[in-house]
Amino acid sequence: MKNISVIGAGTMGNGIAHVFAQFGYKVVLIDISQAALDRAIQTITKNLDRQVAKGSLSEEEKANTLSRLITNTSIAEGVASANLVVEAATENIDLKLKIFKEMDQFAPSECILSTNTSSISITKIAAATGRPDRVIGMHFMNPVPVMKLVEVIRGYSTSNEVTSTVFDMSKSLQKVPVEVNDYPGFVANRILMPMINEAIYSLYEGVAGVEEIDTVMRLGMAHPMGPLRLADFIGLDVCLAILRVLHDGFGNPKYAPCPLLVNMVTAGKLGDKSGEGFYIMNKETKESRVSPAFSRN
Ligand code: NAD
Repeated sequence: MKNISVIGAGTMGNGIAHVFAQFGYKVVLIDISQAALDRAIQTITKNLDRQVAKGSLSEEEKANTLSRLITNTSIAEGVASANLVVEAATENIDLKLKIFKEMDQFAPSECILSTNTSSISITKIAAATGRPDRVIGMHFMNPVPVMKLVEVIRGYSTSNEVTSTVFDMSKSLQKVPVEVNDYPGFVANRILMPMINEAIYSLYEGVAGVEEIDTVMRLGMAHPMGPLRLADFIGLDVCLAILRVLHDGFGNPKYAPCPLLVNMVTAGKLGDKSGEGFYIMNKETKESRVSPAFSRN
């Protein structure tokens, strides 16, 4: 199990490619966009430089990591000798079904097909392939080189053998795999997103301001980041999409997204990626201050 293909070279894909290459796997990083691939290699190099500066990696290990990484703009070519594919393309069900059909056609029959989806059903993705027993969720957390957890999601047909192989591979990356079953939001987002939604409701109903809500959760619950700051970091559009998956999947009104969140996404206030959400983020200094829209003065 030495050949890994990673599909999608965005935020998550470059981190996933980075850790597999760092821990000795040969990695093909695939994206439809050559510009995304170029950016990903730059980001990986920058992040490896940071590890060298911190003393957690030698110059030689950095060079070896980069030498194990190649890129390709074709899925058919990029997965041809893969033992494991990790799909980390844009979160869109139709796109993922299309990519899985293509992977199924061109990857070796023994190859495990995994997805880093945050919210799409693994069972549904698996059903688009002729090998549903070899399809599984590998939900890495952002930023991948730093975060220890891999939520390993078993679809309805995922085999024990595939689950156990994915567990072993996650451990070989010095990650901690946790097995969960395939229900909306899995575990991470099923618990996280209602908390973020409740924080937004607290703001919407005037219970407290942005900084006050985040301070309660940081100092009171020892969360490293308050829920509103975290929502900006994740992307308010992403939070809304996941809440809709929970709401549709369970049919339970407790998951209904807060109207303030819906309004902000409609207005294009998506958090850090658009420069404004609950906070205004300075991209250079990475400092944030409460958005004037929520200023209490
Ligand atoms: P992103 O937008 O940063 O990157 C997606 C990449 O996919 C882009 O580079 C795009 O060019 C590429 N892509 C689109 N169509 C493609 C195709 N047909 N073939 C190959 N590449 C294609 O997205 P991201 O934030 O890295 O998210 C990727 C996946 O990871 C999503 O499923 C998301 O739900 C999941 N995820 C994201 C986070 C996060 O915090 N960003 C955390 C956990 C899981």
